[in-house]
Amino acid sequence: MSKVIVTGGAGFIGSHVVDILIENQHKVLIIDNLSSGKRQNLNPKADFVEMDICSEQIDTIFRDFRPEFVAHLAAQIDVRKSVTDPIFDAKVNILGGINLLNSAVKYGVKKLIFSSTGGAIYGETDVLPVPETYLPKPMSPYGTSKLAFEHYLGLYQRLHGLKYLILRLPNVYGPRQSPEGEAGVCSILTGLMLKGNKPVLYGYGTPQRDYVFVKDIARAFLYGLEKGENETVNLGSARGTTVREIFDIIANTVGYHEEPQLAPLRPGEVQTIYITGDKAREILDWSPQTDLKSGLIQTVEFIRNN
Ligand code: NAD
Repeated sequence: MSKVIVTGGAGFIGSHVVDILIENQHKVLIIDNLSSGKRQNLNPKADFVEMDICSEQIDTIFRDFRPEFVAHLAAQIDVRKSVTDPIFDAKVNILGGINLLNSAVKYGVKKLIFSSTGGAIYGETDVLPVPETYLPKPMSPYGTSKLAFEHYLGLYQRLHGLKYLILRLPNVYGPRQSPEGEAGVCSILTGLMLKGNKPVLYGYGTPQRDYVFVKDIARAFLYGLEKGENETVNLGSARGTTVREIFDIIANTVGYHEEPQLAPLRPGEVQTIYITGDKAREILDWSPQTDLKSGLIQTVEFIRNN
């Protein structure tokens, strides 16, 4: 049993990370300001502090709880918002992160596991699937703030000996992702089709992404408590799927028979990105287990019932 702080534990991915940690008998404290997270996502067996990761009070939380591990998922996650308000994005994703790092060092945390992004960090690449060794050239302030914090993790390791594991996530989908948000195409399309509204497919439906089911992603955080020291690891399926393919699977599941509206890509979005998973297999003994169709059926079921 380990004591773990999960930031962003009321959010989509963070809440699944909390669930799997609790299922495996770990003691969890969630820090979340509920800006996009929801109370109903909170695991009742976890402690919860409603707080901004930028707050000076973070120190007190670490002092009292004495975590051995931190899974850091709290973030400003909206790519388009990061383009219109890069300062807010950097405050949360860089300064908020450094605030956690300072407390982690001060109270002797063994390792910090960071949810970085494979989808937004690499930019438009000439190699697919993109490996961890590819030089990142983000196309948005969001991808840049995530990359900057990765560098701070390397720095705090060299400067203070704090261990880290960087998980570069693909396009994560599944239950609890908001159909109302700006991110999460699977939930957004499902929400629209269930209401009988016509979805818009940006990039004319052709952009390819790497879709991995949220419970598979959560498992990597669990494995990360024991494996992967000062490593950067892609959690990809190494497979690209077009938005049109996603649309078709969901339309079939929901029983939606209209054609979608097609539109050009928006600023900050890349055309094609999918990332490797072989280093994750090697280092964490992790690979995605849920196939796209059954993952999407679970996503549709969740949105239908909520
Ligand atoms: P989410 O919005 O559901 O979760 C983020 C959580 O962080 C929310 O509960 C929110 O309330 C909380 N939060 C935001 N700002 C905060 C702050 N200043 N202080 C405290 N809490 C704060 O999003 P998600 O999709 O679950 O993303 C979780 C993490 O995974 C993020 O770090 C994101 O960058 C990363 N990620 C997600 C994806 C994806 O496909 N969803 C892909 C790559 C990386």
